[in-house]
Amino acid sequence: MEIVVLPALSDNYMYLICADAEAVIVDPAAEDPVMRELDKRGLTLTRILITHHHYDHVQGVPGLCRHTNAEVIGPNDERIPGLKHPVREGNTFAFAGSDFRVLDTPGHGDRDVSYLLRTPGRPDALFCGDTLFVSGCGRVLEGSAEALWTSLRKLAALPDETRVYCGHEYTEENLRFALTVDPHDRVYQDSLTAAQQRLRDGLPTVPSTIGTEKKANPFLRCDSSVAFTALRKRKDRF
Ligand code: ZN
Ligand code: FE
Repeated sequence: MEIVVLPALSDNYMYLICADAEAVIVDPAAEDPVMRELDKRGLTLTRILITHHHYDHVQGVPGLCRHTNAEVIGPNDERIPGLKHPVREGNTFAFAGSDFRVLDTPGHGDRDVSYLLRTPGRPDALFCGDTLFVSGCGRVLEGSAEALWTSLRKLAALPDETRVYCGHEYTEENLRFALTVDPHDRVYQDSLTAAQQRLRDGLPTVPSTIGTEKKANPFLRCDSSVAFTALRKRKDRF
């Protein structure tokens, strides 16, 4: 099992999860990079996993459906093109000796889900769309701050070693914001330096881990829903 990070649009990440003969794509913002990677690796796309309906997470779906027989899986939302299998919290589906578990994580949108890939003998991998970012979280667009807080608490309760694959490369801006909250915080300073180095080298700052996020994400460091809501509003104005 290999997880390939595919950049798309200005700052989106798509994730191609590759097994021996088949692959699954998470949040295809674009069709071409996915088709190229499938061709290069000689893989058949069997599923398209969608975290939420925003265009920058589904734009590649119609094209991928034309060129493959992949089924579209996502939350029950008519705004997701080609949706075949609506899923919700607790649903699981098998993939090449691993499985995916669905978590309801609303708040950014009103129906977002995350997918937890569980492979025996390896840390779990979380695909959380625009709910949790590296050192940040999604804006409250259609959901509520209360719902997003509950979703983030749910993700923070996953094992520390869980790998976090989020929907956008926002890490540098998120850490700049974190340093306006706690200007002398060593964890934020060191994380920013490390992120900037990776970006200079042309590398993504994903995956993070849940353990790292609990230390280096100001939104996961909040101790109450009230504090979280205030911090989210402050970030909106940043
Ligand atoms: Zn979004
Ligand atoms: Fe997005």
